[in-house]
Amino acid sequence: MVDALVEAHNLVKIYKAADLEVVALQGLDLHVPRGEMLALVGPSGAGKSTLLNILGGLDEPSAGKCMVAGVDLTHLSARDRLRYRRRVVGHVWQQTSRNLLGDLTLLDNVMVPMVLAGYPARRRKRRARELLELVGLGPRMRYRPDRLSGGEQQRGALAVALANEPPLLLADEPTGELDSVTAREVLGLLRGLNAELGLTTIIVTHDKLVAEAMDRSVAIRDGRTSTEVLHAEERAEETAIIDSVGRLQIPKALLDAVRFSGRARVHLAGDHLELWPAAGAPSGNGANSGNGAAKS
Ligand code: ADP
Repeated sequence: MVDALVEAHNLVKIYKAADLEVVALQGLDLHVPRGEMLALVGPSGAGKSTLLNILGGLDEPSAGKCMVAGVDLTHLSARDRLRYRRRVVGHVWQQTSRNLLGDLTLLDNVMVPMVLAGYPARRRKRRARELLELVGLGPRMRYRPDRLSGGEQQRGALAVALANEPPLLLADEPTGELDSVTAREVLGLLRGLNAELGLTTIIVTHDKLVAEAMDRSVAIRDGRTSTEVLHAEERAEETAIIDSVGRLQIPKALLDAVRFSGRARVHLAGDHLELWPAAGAPSGNGANSGNGAAKS
């Protein structure tokens, strides 16, 4: 298997509030090779932010396995968690105010994570300048965020996120507050960083354009990965993900097309499987019509 930067297996996250339990992730599997640009899509409440928070070291999984860059996120001391957050992941949020400190210049903003990680002063300044050049903000490095456009602020946020050379960039709706032209600019920059630094990037997005600009989109539904689309292929095709214990989420459009009423008969048919509603063959079709068949 390709060298994975992120490997989640049967990941579970349960939030407890008073006597209520919310199962935000219920046995999620995810494999992200180094250098991949991945979009996480899916309806609101599906568990995307929960997953991003776990990968970012901001939240702990309740059960399962989660390795990022060789770090086991299920067993981290407070000290190791802090180190992980400073060294392994960079975050870009939708709200620019969450990414940049308003009373510092861009240059100082980019240096903050390096101060926290203990970089020597000389190296901090040199690297901050280089990063701001890389994201096209060299001439603006002495500006405070309020003098920058939305796109410039997000590019500055990228420079901050990359300050400590993390192998993984996490972005939650990074273009959500930008117009489409500026959003494309930021996406182009992400692509460039991916090519230049080999940066593995995971983006949560509701925007189809953003998702299609990534190498792959994985849809999360009910706390599990359900379908994926490889965009790099000439003819992008949605495929359903079968997890390590054989669970499969049938895409909603197909589920609406064939009524299963909670049960299916599964037949091995040579090199593929066929799913039939358990109560009988689909109405109006012969047994060999292929309606409801899932080629595996
Ligand atoms: P998404 O990002 O896909 O919209 P989330 O990960 O935010 O989904 O949420 C998944 C589920 O977990 C939702 O039902 C949400 O209400 C619940 N949830 C998320 N964070 C918390 C929390 N801190 N406490 C309790 N429930 C939460």
